[in-house]
Amino acid sequence: MTHPDWRALAGAVQPRRELFLGGRWSEPLDGAYLPVRSPVDGRPLGDVALAGAEDVGRAVALARASFDDGRWSTRAPAARGAVLVRWSERCEASRDELALLVSLEMGKPVAQARDVDVPALVTTLRFYGEAADKVADELPWTDPGSLALVTREPAGVVGAIVPWNFPLTIAGWKIAPALAVGCSVVLKLAEEAPFSMLRVAELGAEAGLPDGVLSVLNGRGAVAGRALGLHRQVDVVTFTGSTEVGRLVHSYASSSNLKRTYLELGGKSANVVFPDADLERAGATAAWSAFYNQGEMCSAGSRLLVHEDVHDEVVAAALSTAATMAPGDPLDPSSATGALVSEEHASRVAGHVERAEASSAELLAGGRRAEVVAGGSYFAPTVFDRVDPRQPLATEEVFGPVLAVTSFSEEHEAVRLANGTRYGLAAGVWTRDLGRAHRVARAMRAGVVWVNCFEEGDLTVPFGGVKESGHGSDKSLRALDKFLDVKTTWITLS
Ligand code: NAD
Repeated sequence: MTHPDWRALAGAVQPRRELFLGGRWSEPLDGAYLPVRSPVDGRPLGDVALAGAEDVGRAVALARASFDDGRWSTRAPAARGAVLVRWSERCEASRDELALLVSLEMGKPVAQARDVDVPALVTTLRFYGEAADKVADELPWTDPGSLALVTREPAGVVGAIVPWNFPLTIAGWKIAPALAVGCSVVLKLAEEAPFSMLRVAELGAEAGLPDGVLSVLNGRGAVAGRALGLHRQVDVVTFTGSTEVGRLVHSYASSSNLKRTYLELGGKSANVVFPDADLERAGATAAWSAFYNQGEMCSAGSRLLVHEDVHDEVVAAALSTAATMAPGDPLDPSSATGALVSEEHASRVAGHVERAEASSAELLAGGRRAEVVAGGSYFAPTVFDRVDPRQPLATEEVFGPVLAVTSFSEEHEAVRLANGTRYGLAAGVWTRDLGRAHRVARAMRAGVVWVNCFEEGDLTVPFGGVKESGHGSDKSLRALDKFLDVKTTWITLS
């Protein structure tokens, strides 16, 4: 597909905008709609239906009924798995359409949406579909006069609340394991990226998901997200988003039915570069990890902690990579990065940059909005050097293309700096010394540590954070357990 091909396709796009309530399109009860504009060029994408609290109630009631009557929860696991696998095939067949919706709604390059985001969703649906009948329970060895069963049962109704930065990937990580084990799901999308997952839901119904089992809604966080978090018929809430909203989601659980919550929150991850590393690769990857997806990554390597002896070489490599990651038209397949999700978000990023410019930090690249497509929200890859580890740029999540460089001289200092924020999502360690790699990786308070790489991995490994980056991880077979309750049955045989 060429740039003109994508443009032509974009001109014809007409996304569904209603609520997807248990498999059927439905208007919101109070008739509320939100006009959505694309951050690519400001074009109107359509008015999307906003669920109110009553609409959330309707979705939960459908989910509850579908769970309780067993139409999905008691179906043979292999049969549930087959639906998920069929669904993954339908998503794969709709790859261009889904990629375009993602790119238009949140601004990332369409080629990345096509080559990264859609395949991630397809793989996730297939992985958990194939896993559905590979789960076994436990029979512990007990006294001969007894038989003990430790069984796992689907937890019930799952509420999933997701952000806009990877609309397909993150939603897939939530709904696929929940559905695979037999739960019914109500998914609340981010208002900024409201369309692509609605189409995925429709494909799920076509693949054979029974009515009621999946609802996908848009709605204001403080209305629909809150209603889902507080609903007493929801058994588990799985959330990805900011630490501030994660706190609220936790509080909804404690003030309602004590539902289990899983929180994937913000980050301020560091790449730590020691002098014996492959310096060129370390600098280049550090920059890539800060600017990929316009820096709108929870796990962005937004800090570069570099040993003072190799500072210049590593920063030079980072700057050359930054120069290759300037934003381009998201519909041009050659663009390395695209638009920020909205004008409002671009102004927030600009605010972080202005505050850093007023500090002792030194601006080495970027620092300004970029003119790419008229009406779009673009920001140049930005690098600040000599960032004091106490200043906001070193501690606060920007969620935009801004890299903060700080030097260190000793290993223990590097570890202290890397761990020196309230977050604990990810970290990168760059060294050829095996002992140091293990020592530092162990000392990192992070859910994911990458050694001599960043953002690598596949579905077999968990992804999640510690500290105020949250708890409970997505991905891997472990994610199935999030949506299962454990039951002990003790039988006296005599
Ligand atoms: P956000 O917290 O503003 O919104 C996330 C979701 O929560 C949206 O669906 C939103 O509508 C909803 N929401 C907002 N207010 C709510 C409320 N009061 N009650 C219930 N729900 C509410 O985050 P965002 O701007 O969409 O995404 C960016 C954030 O997400 C960043 O902090 C980023 O680090 C984080 N994130 C984390 C991960 C991870 O895996 N740890 C992955 C991606 C993004």
